[in-house]
Amino acid sequence: MAAQQNDVDMLRHLYNMALTRGKAYSWLDHLSNQIGGRLSGSVQAEQAIAYTQKELEALGLDRVWLQPVMVPKWVRGAAEFAYIESAPGNTTNVPICALGGSVPTPAGGIKAPVIEVQGLEELQALGREAVEGKIVFFNRPMDPTQINTFRAYAGCVDQRASGAAEAGMLGAVGVIVRSMNLRLDDYPHTGSLRYGDTPEAMRIPAAAISTNGAELLSTTLKLNPDIQFYFRQSCRQYDDVPSYNVIGEIRGSTYPEEILLVGGHLDSWDLGDGSHDDGAGCVQSMEVLRLFMETGYRPRRTLRVVLFMNEENGLRGGRGYAEAAAQKGEKHLFALESDSGGFTPRGFSFDCTDEAFAQIAAWKPLFEPYLIHQFDRGGSGADIGPLKPQGPILAGLRPDTQRYFDYHHAETDTFSAINRRELELGAATMAALVYLVDRYGDALAVSTGGQ
Ligand SMILES: [Zn+2]
Repeated sequence: MAAQQNDVDMLRHLYNMALTRGKAYSWLDHLSNQIGGRLSGSVQAEQAIAYTQKELEALGLDRVWLQPVMVPKWVRGAAEFAYIESAPGNTTNVPICALGGSVPTPAGGIKAPVIEVQGLEELQALGREAVEGKIVFFNRPMDPTQINTFRAYAGCVDQRASGAAEAGMLGAVGVIVRSMNLRLDDYPHTGSLRYGDTPEAMRIPAAAISTNGAELLSTTLKLNPDIQFYFRQSCRQYDDVPSYNVIGEIRGSTYPEEILLVGGHLDSWDLGDGSHDDGAGCVQSMEVLRLFMETGYRPRRTLRVVLFMNEENGLRGGRGYAEAAAQKGEKHLFALESDSGGFTPRGFSFDCTDEAFAQIAAWKPLFEPYLIHQFDRGGSGADIGPLKPQGPILAGLRPDTQRYFDYHHAETDTFSAINRRELELGAATMAALVYLVDRYGDALAVSTGGQ
């Protein structure tokens, strides 16, 4: 579909409004500084639900509601503590944090010899004899030569996700994982682990260590492989608790049954305040609807914002949403998630048919004035992933990724790490794409099979 002058004007208008009268930044200020980290099942998560519901209601949308989901409740407990003991009585403290979902250590902590590995394969190759009774230290760093830092993350996150399950089966007593962070600093980065089918008795505690701590532990081990490592954590898994996805929509004027979704996840980890992950994606998604309300542009299709609960340690919100949509026979034409940080937007990645992608890629010139150039095929977002069998075009906002892992899941993920213009440009970029999908959705509906 060739770009028309009114599309050029509409995009300019959306960007102008986001940059001069945007609300995303002040919403995020409240979420981050008045509420804080929003781990599933926490009081802060409940406060964030109430706050965003109230703010969406104030926009005058056609409908705002809460969708119930049950979520896991894991709490960190008292601050974790760890040290390297290079000789009896000779200790150096190192920063650690429990991985989400981990079991605690015994109340007095665990002290054991350490074996360093570069990943799961090396662990398996070493086998039970080398591992039994020890703390396994996974130290494969993120690959700095990857320009897309998410690839570097994908290249080592298996250590965090599955390290405890695999080491526990081999008789290890604990796991320490190098933080998923490209720079050297003193902040441990949490994130979820999975025990899977591991029998309860073999579930061992796991923690992330800061990158500086990992370097120190590794060099100390090279000097003396017989050192001991001590750590203590008192995290705990409770029974599931009720929570909610927060949803609002503007009903379509012509095709109200066709849904265009924008969203992010409202829960976050507990160490920082979750400004980048994923407060940014939530307020950008809310801003998309606000921009449409403010321009007076009435979408032809139903435009829905979904703030998903529990992306970080369960994905219950995303799964519950997709299940409910299937049950109600809802028809999602398009879903766009922002969950890669609130940095300068570069473009989008699309999970869709060749035909739909070719059509969307033809809109690239409209985005050039805003330095948006990346239109790739690939993943979209974790929360909208469960909608895939229902056939919508799935998309993810792709911001610059160079700094994301300085903050991701760490205490550094705070509002002070957010740049107002970058956040607003992301919201405007999302609104621009949603506008074009709404306007040219007839052809897109045909190319996705018109389901
Ligand atoms: Zn996230």
